[in-house]
Amino acid sequence: MITHHPAKDVLFAYAAGTTQEAVSLVVATHLALCPDCRCSVSLAERAGGAMLENFAPEPMTTAAWERVQSRLDDLRPIHSAVPVPGRETGAPEPLRTYLDGDLDSVRWISVTRGLAYRPILVGDCRVQLVRTKPGHRISLHTHGGDEFSLVLTGGFTDCSGQYRRGDFQTATRELLHRPMADKGEDCIILTVADAPLMFRNPFVGLMAKLMGF
Ligand SMILES: [Zn+2]
Repeated sequence: MITHHPAKDVLFAYAAGTTQEAVSLVVATHLALCPDCRCSVSLAERAGGAMLENFAPEPMTTAAWERVQSRLDDLRPIHSAVPVPGRETGAPEPLRTYLDGDLDSVRWISVTRGLAYRPILVGDCRVQLVRTKPGHRISLHTHGGDEFSLVLTGGFTDCSGQYRRGDFQTATRELLHRPMADKGEDCIILTVADAPLMFRNPFVGLMAKLMGF
């Protein structure tokens, strides 16, 4: 049962095709697990399509069409607006394509005994998988910007609630937290952040920076 979802404005931006690749990836992977949000995106797409039908046609020059085509050639592949629902475990599409396999084939980089990560995309936003062992706490931190996290296996709990497979957390500069992985299996999350974590303990912050986390 998924109880934490992306904000409506994020879902609408995704439906309109205006989110950048990193955000599209985490939203589309959530959609693969969440029927409620798939329904919201589908409604937003139909509303957008109905609005387009009401625009009066405008004449275009041949050069305008050629410019559009050349820009399309520069674009990276776009995610399907409504991805194929995922399996009960592991990485659903479109994340699976980015991993070139499933979660059990990920080559992790260890930060501490209980914490490891794997970069997925590096650009304006940083996209990575983060794995925490059951019962392990990530040191107290806040965020330099916005961070989206999607739980893929296990779960974690912080001051804002409990998050399990499919749950989506939006963390901002205002959220100061110390997430702890739930007991049971490893907690693996997909995170997208436009700024690094800001640890309260300067030593932890330095170590995280040195480890590339
Ligand atoms: Zn949802």
